[in-house]
Amino acid sequence: MQFKNLDIIEPIQKALKAEGYTQPTPIQEQAIPPLLEGNDLLGCAQTGTGKTAAFAIPILQKLSYQQRNLKGNRPIKALVLAPTRELALQISDSFKAYGKFLGLKTLVIYGGVSQNPQTKALSAGVDILVATPGRLLDLINQKYIRLNQIESFVLDEADMMLDMGMLQEVRKIIKHMPVERQNMLFSATMPTEIAKLAGTMLNKPVKVTI
Ligand code: AMP
Repeated sequence: MQFKNLDIIEPIQKALKAEGYTQPTPIQEQAIPPLLEGNDLLGCAQTGTGKTAAFAIPILQKLSYQQRNLKGNRPIKALVLAPTRELALQISDSFKAYGKFLGLKTLVIYGGVSQNPQTKALSAGVDILVATPGRLLDLINQKYIRLNQIESFVLDEADMMLDMGMLQEVRKIIKHMPVERQNMLFSATMPTEIAKLAGTMLNKPVKVTI
């Protein structure tokens, strides 16, 4: 199996080659086609399986088809929530790497640091936002961020979020997004709380277990 068999557009294929990826991993093979068709996805997968590219590639591809005004302020179209700063940074680096020939803007925000550089970067225009829940909710409440144009939403490492007591924040964040959107939920394990959240968050999801 090759990336080109997955209907991935040329600029992304080129970026993947530059990363040294020669072929898709099993989760990429199974998740990318249904995501490109617009389905919701429930992914049971650990870190190390290549799950970040499995959700980042379809999001980048969907955004690349849209005529985005890349200069001015513009609504955020994709949101990825991750439990920790380290994970959020890794995810945003992946979006930047796979999307490097697309000219889209990815911003990462997390707590524990001054919010000023983050609010400044937000006002310059962002297409893809990667965030930890607490800081995101703070910035939403202060009206620095609106999620009313989100078309793609990823909840990554959902079981770790549960362990860290973040699900209440996640539920509040979801209320700020349009009902009509594409959803992806990834979790290494599927405790009852996460299965319940998946039930309310996902619409007829395709299930991929690695
Ligand atoms: P992840 O599970 O998303 O954290 O990815 C784990 C590691 O696998 C990361 O270092 C990626 O850069 C790498 N990776 C992801 N997809 C591929 C691929 N198709 N071929 C080779 N390496 C990959």
